[in-house]
Amino acid sequence: MTTMQTKFDSLNPATDEVVGSHPIHTAEEVQAAVERARTAAAWWADLGFSGRAERLQRWKGVLTRRAAQLAGVVHAETGKPHADAMLEIILAIDHTDWAAKHARKVLGPHRRSSGLLMANQASTVEYQPLGVVGVIGPWNYPVFTPMGSIAYAMAAGNAVVFKPSEYTPGVGRWLADSFAEIVPEHPVLQVVTGYGETGAALCRAGVAKIAFTGSPGTGKKIMAACADTLTPVLIEAGGKDALIVDADADLDLAADGAVWGGFSNAGQTCTGIERVYVHEQVYDEFVAKVVEKAKSVRPGFDADANIGPITMPSQLDIIRRHIADAVSRGGRALVGGEVGDRYVQPTVLVDVPEDSSAVREETFGPTMTIAKVRDMDEAIAKANDTTYGLGGSVFSKKRGMELARRLRSGMVAVNSVISFAGVPSLPFGGSGDSGFGRIHGPEGLREFGKPKAITRQRFRAPLTLTSFARGPKVDAQVAKLITLLHGKRR
Ligand code: NAD
Repeated sequence: MTTMQTKFDSLNPATDEVVGSHPIHTAEEVQAAVERARTAAAWWADLGFSGRAERLQRWKGVLTRRAAQLAGVVHAETGKPHADAMLEIILAIDHTDWAAKHARKVLGPHRRSSGLLMANQASTVEYQPLGVVGVIGPWNYPVFTPMGSIAYAMAAGNAVVFKPSEYTPGVGRWLADSFAEIVPEHPVLQVVTGYGETGAALCRAGVAKIAFTGSPGTGKKIMAACADTLTPVLIEAGGKDALIVDADADLDLAADGAVWGGFSNAGQTCTGIERVYVHEQVYDEFVAKVVEKAKSVRPGFDADANIGPITMPSQLDIIRRHIADAVSRGGRALVGGEVGDRYVQPTVLVDVPEDSSAVREETFGPTMTIAKVRDMDEAIAKANDTTYGLGGSVFSKKRGMELARRLRSGMVAVNSVISFAGVPSLPFGGSGDSGFGRIHGPEGLREFGKPKAITRQRFRAPLTLTSFARGPKVDAQVAKLITLLHGKRR
């Protein structure tokens, strides 16, 4: 007889040491968490914007004062350098502050024009909380990424049930425990842990919305599960972001951006730079600079390492396959190319055919392809020739904004990389295989609210349209008015 596994361990990907043991929550337990969250959501919503903002600000204070401790858990569960763990926590703190401070302004009542036909009405719109939001997160930025949904959903008045990745359950637990210290009255933020089945159970537990961040494949399963109950979803999925370099670009800046954008967090970044297109006039110089810088990026788990191990062992096979495919089809690794048991040396690939997996599929490792283009039209066409549409980067002195607008992606950084993620007022998200919906900014707050339209009659209008007392005289007057307003031949 086999016994059901009820617990699982999170492991340090650099050492295989057990970091923590966590329950595998069953569908019944997930359902119970969602039911508890309903009561918590009603209480939390009743606190209003200021009551919630005050508590979120106090939580922000705890996150700030204990950031090093939380970074320790992130470092242990993902293997990323401590300083990188701190960076994602700092950004999450800034986002939490922004969401708390701006929720009322974005979601509170706003007057709208009532138009001429309904001029006797005072029209307002406000965003009411959805109720209980389910957040399903990945492991690569286990604080920053889910907090882009959690903090904004809570600021909008919702309770959250959070399912962290099975690779980073300790981080999720830490976040929920620290919030419960500030808000002990009700479980406004709960964590359920486990594998994909636990996430699937959350999709079916009657939540008002699922905010998912992870791979496109899982995103499709989540949409299918949510279709049964018409549960709305927000999908933040993968990317294959391109960086383009114009002939007039500052090449040191561009090379620095490419190397950090491509290799930081060992390339395990949804908005990481995986493809680079460079104007032929500056191609050789740019490649030489990237190669030089890439050589100094060292993987390891010691305090001085620049990047950590690959967190999810199965990803090593994908990285190996992409490099092998590129090399077997004429590509050359100018630096790196070796994939070890845990670590991948930063890898710069050139002469890679555009239809190879290294160019078309998300690699999610410290590798990039660099290709020469005749001009920026070709760079844009190639950058846009992808099923993804998440972020991107442009290095150009004169044409930065124009080129940024032409990239088919949700976000673009001009003369830097990934900066958009650190600006709390900007929406974050993509299209195509990168998903849909937005976290962060006013758009991110509105994702977690229901727009409520209200008209309040200020006086009885001479032309009342919404009454049987209207009569043919009123109809004729309205028809005349409409002809006057809209009936002109152009
Ligand atoms: P993943 O899709 O494997 O897992 C994400 C989460 O979904 C995990 O918590 C997992 O347990 C859960 N899950 C798995 N199967 C499920 C199912 N059937 N139903 C419900 N939940 C299920 O992704 P990952 O490997 O953790 O993360 C890496 C991916 O995330 C990459 O593709 C990366 O680009 C993407 N990502 C995107 C963003 C963004 O904002 N766009 C940010 C970070 C990461």
